[in-house]
Amino acid sequence: MPRTTPSRPPAAPPTPHAPQIDLFPVLPAVEVLEARALAGPRTGVAHLVRVRWNPEPVPHLVFHDRHGWYCQEHGPACRAVPVAQEAVA
Ligand SMILES: [Zn+2]
Repeated sequence: MPRTTPSRPPAAPPTPHAPQIDLFPVLPAVEVLEARALAGPRTGVAHLVRVRWNPEPVPHLVFHDRHGWYCQEHGPACRAVPVAQEAVA
């Protein structure tokens, strides 16, 4: 006998044009990654954080290792760096 699956509508998509977009800073999506799982146990990377601002398609990959904090793409001056530092604090 087949199981009846409740037909629930998918979650509503985010509003594409929020009216207050200029008044409030856009919060990035922050994901703290397992540095050792991704880069290996001997890599020396203490933290690895992915930061993405909508609607930017490319996330910033922020590393924290013996060189300090830096974005893979933009270096230590990237605006994703302080966001990543706060995420792991
Ligand atoms: Zn960056």
